[in-house]
Amino acid sequence: MSLLEVRGLGKAFGGVKAVDGVGFSLEKGELLALIGPNGAGKSTTFNLVGGQLAPDSGSVRLAGHDIAGLSPRAIWRRGVGRTFQIAATFASLSVVENVQMALLSADHKVFASWRRAAGHRRDDALALLERVGMGRQADRPCSALAYGDVKRVELAMALAHAPQLLLMDEPTAGMAPAERLALMALTRALAKEREMGVLFTEHSMDVVFGQADRVLVLVRGQLLAEGRPEVIQRDPRVQQAYLGHGQILGKRRT
Ligand code: ADP
Ligand code: MG
Repeated sequence: MSLLEVRGLGKAFGGVKAVDGVGFSLEKGELLALIGPNGAGKSTTFNLVGGQLAPDSGSVRLAGHDIAGLSPRAIWRRGVGRTFQIAATFASLSVVENVQMALLSADHKVFASWRRAAGHRRDDALALLERVGMGRQADRPCSALAYGDVKRVELAMALAHAPQLLLMDEPTAGMAPAERLALMALTRALAKEREMGVLFTEHSMDVVFGQADRVLVLVRGQLLAEGRPEVIQRDPRVQQAYLGHGQILGKRRT
């Protein structure tokens, strides 16, 4: 049984079929990239899996249990994590306190208040920060961090709840190329050591083809191709789908 099995997934907005009969599976420890031109339906797919949207049709099975249409919180409780933007109110907290908040949420399975988080599992929070390369910045306020470092803290926060599946919709948006590669290489290492499945989307094709185990190509709501990076990279249909957006390799779309 796959960690995630999506079958016949569909979602329309008015007359637009944003996601149209999409099916794929994802294994434990696998880094699966979902790519495609802007408007292809990538974010909608993430939102259908994460519960921010309910599908019109299809099933989403996590370790054999159908989670389609459950609330984001219910899906999170079942072990689906998302990297998320640190809310403005947390910017004044230190890096380690943000991770402590995430640990408290994970332990109580509810949103935490920062007053209770201050004394909560500081050593575990520091260990998570160490793992994402942020140990030395633990006591700085989040507001003082470089953008790429905030992304690492977000990753540590997502890991606090030990997800089986991590959803990352454009986790490296706004980052410099070298930082993008480093963040996704770290994510890849974490996926392997924790046997955590990762579904991500990313504009840098260097990152996608260098880090993903497998690639799904979505165009106008439908899966155009699926396979290992080296196969997808050479697929003429995939090249064709990107015409007008520039070559699939080398160019970054925004
Ligand atoms: P991607 O993430 O691949 O760029 P999206 O999933 O955001 O694509 O969008 C897919 C299509 O669905 C687009 O045509 C977009 O305009 C439309 N869409 C997405 N979200 C909404 C929404 N909340 N309301 C109406 N249309 C939407
Ligand atoms: Mg999107």
